[in-house]
Amino acid sequence: MDFVVTPWEVKGKVDYDKLLQQFGARPLTSDQISLLNKYAGEVHPLIRRGFFYAHRDFDEILKWHAQGRPWALYTGRGPSGPVHIGHMVPWILLKWFSDKFGLEVYFQMTDDEKFYDDPELSLRDTTRWAYENALDVIALGFEPDRLHLIVDTLDIKPLYPIAVKVAKKLTWNTVKATFGFTDSSNIGLIFYPSLQIAVAFLPTELRGETTPVLIPCAIDQDPYFRLARDIADGLGYPKPATLYSKFIMALTGESKMSASNPESAIYTVDEPKAVKRKIMNAFTGGRPTAEEQRKLGGNPDICPVFHYHMLLDPDDASVEKIRQDCRSGALLCGECKLRLYEKIERFLKEHKERREKAKDRVDEYRLSVKL
Ligand code: SF4
Repeated sequence: MDFVVTPWEVKGKVDYDKLLQQFGARPLTSDQISLLNKYAGEVHPLIRRGFFYAHRDFDEILKWHAQGRPWALYTGRGPSGPVHIGHMVPWILLKWFSDKFGLEVYFQMTDDEKFYDDPELSLRDTTRWAYENALDVIALGFEPDRLHLIVDTLDIKPLYPIAVKVAKKLTWNTVKATFGFTDSSNIGLIFYPSLQIAVAFLPTELRGETTPVLIPCAIDQDPYFRLARDIADGLGYPKPATLYSKFIMALTGESKMSASNPESAIYTVDEPKAVKRKIMNAFTGGRPTAEEQRKLGGNPDICPVFHYHMLLDPDDASVEKIRQDCRSGALLCGECKLRLYEKIERFLKEHKERREKAKDRVDEYRLSVKL
């Protein structure tokens, strides 16, 4: 395999079809997308355009919904630094599901995991990042009755009894084979999967009735939920369903943005000047000269600038026009980048205002404060 994908590492050029085979998840089919259309009345562009491309039991949870039974949403974030647009994209879909189906969202901030994993970060750092990152989630417009934040080290109480039951079902051999732990992995990291899996079962415990979750997240999180599904029956919980996205391309052209290179991503707290610089310096699928581009056209398929247009522009016709104008050579990269800058800056301006307003409200959203 010429690429590696684990929850902690993405290396090489990812082949998303091969990855599905490796993980054993399924591609999202047009039948399943039609089912979503039937119940939601529309299909979100991130699904329509193939960015969310794979799943486990997505159709089953929609059928469960059709029977009028309860379900919930679950996703999370490893808080080790500021949030970039790539992190926000799946959360935008999460909010859409919550609004369309009237669902509660369980959002785990894994400050413990990031502390275990990164020798450079103190626990104080990761918990502070959890607070900072929570502002970005709240800024998407959630109300406290719909969004339940769980910062692992602060809100462990409702989670811990479930994690204990999960931990008893997972052997060292299983987690070693699933996550690639070695003899020098710290035992915090080895226990940690129990906590990430526990949230999948939390809504059932809290409601006192079977409440499966749908987990929209990036494909690298599949190993956790594969295990969750394996042990769910034995613990009397419903299997979680999942919806997997590809990674957001780095502005530098790699498969995934990297926290170690701030120029590869646009952060929600970036000033307009920095946003513009990053976009104008981005890798493209363009030709070396304007003349060649006019003659031969560019390649949007490998272009992160196009990728961002595709992720952030709700208008299908506008995205299609960029694709065609790029291919025909009618659109040059400079102009295309400026248009993207304008779109992102508009989004970020509003986001920053909402983020500022969220600053005194984080506790209203924390599950353990509400219980
Ligand atoms: Fe990318 Fe736009 Fe240039 Fe095409 S015109 S290669 S989409 S930046």
